[in-house]
Amino acid sequence: MPNTSKLIRPLVHALHAYVPGEQPKVKGLIKLNTNENPYPPSPKVIKATKAAVDGRLRLYPNPTAQVLREKLATLHGCAPENIIIGNGSDEVLALATRTFVEPATTKRSSKSTIQYFWPSYSLYPVLADIHGGAKNVVPLKADFSLPSVAELKRGKKWDFNAALTFVTTPNAPSGRGYPTAELDALCAAMKGVVILDEAYVDFADESAVMLALKHPHVIVSRTFSKAYSLCFQRVGYFIAHAELVAALDKVRDSYNVNGLGQIAAAATLDDLPYYRKNFRRVIASRTKVTEELTALGFTVLPSQTNFVLARPPKFPAQEWLQKLRDQKIIVRWFSAPEVRDYLRITIGSETEMAEFLRVVKRLLKA
Ligand SMILES: *Cc1c(COP(=O)(O)O)cnc(C)c1O
Repeated sequence: MPNTSKLIRPLVHALHAYVPGEQPKVKGLIKLNTNENPYPPSPKVIKATKAAVDGRLRLYPNPTAQVLREKLATLHGCAPENIIIGNGSDEVLALATRTFVEPATTKRSSKSTIQYFWPSYSLYPVLADIHGGAKNVVPLKADFSLPSVAELKRGKKWDFNAALTFVTTPNAPSGRGYPTAELDALCAAMKGVVILDEAYVDFADESAVMLALKHPHVIVSRTFSKAYSLCFQRVGYFIAHAELVAALDKVRDSYNVNGLGQIAAAATLDDLPYYRKNFRRVIASRTKVTEELTALGFTVLPSQTNFVLARPPKFPAQEWLQKLRDQKIIVRWFSAPEVRDYLRITIGSETEMAEFLRVVKRLLKA
């Protein structure tokens, strides 16, 4: 009888898996923990998706999500050859590690290096570890802003030749946005592939999508999950130089994007005014929640996303997490030292945020 534990690669034994925010099924729960959009998909998207549930579930979907890529190319002013779709943007981020990064050997090399600022999206270290890449983690500045190229050079830790660099912009979990000019300067100084992860960009003042069309080594990553209320369907994509897209395409599973996801995402692009209205609602709530929490003694970082990172008064952040949970409100708390004093609060609907603020006031008085 083989020892099952010995069947598993040591790399996998040592792996710290990604921890997704929980999805409890509790009635009346206010869920402000995973940055989902509080508003439903457009009625046209629901209709198109339902209309596709018939005998064609028997067939394989279009392997390259051709219709969706053509629509995205029109939207971004590029060619379909500049777009690759994934089963959520998480899948394309993983594909990038397999396409651009050599697994690490004992000798440290830029060719095996996956680099990112910290704090940022906690999936990056997991992707690096799964692939067997070497991690180079460089801190953001104390206020979560980006170090300049000159500061990175002076700091000596940043690897300008790293095979793959992830930049979350706007940043998660801080919510801070980065000016395109700063990102452009950073990209111009890099020799390896740079992925600008724009998961939250629809809630921001500016997008850096033009950098993917300007620099051949720069990729912009987008998702239908957060801004387009489509987490359930798992659709994300890269915009990049055609040669990088062709390379990623060779590594991709043939049918990586399910048919209903392709249809829902394509229908989404046919009703953008509906979503733009929702972005404005979320941004208006974000402004209001920021003002009210600040008045209550919270330190709230300026946000360009659909969440805020806030340092609470009176109790430690982890205690707030529990107190809110007892009142059926779940927010996110991260144990990393840079952010352990903060709560990350997703912007929910107007009603949800009013209830959240009511509970916060009650807890402050107790
Ligand atoms: C949510 C998120 C993603 C991935 O979303 P998908 O649902 O896989 O498309 C990517 N990057 C960041 C920073 C995110 O917060």
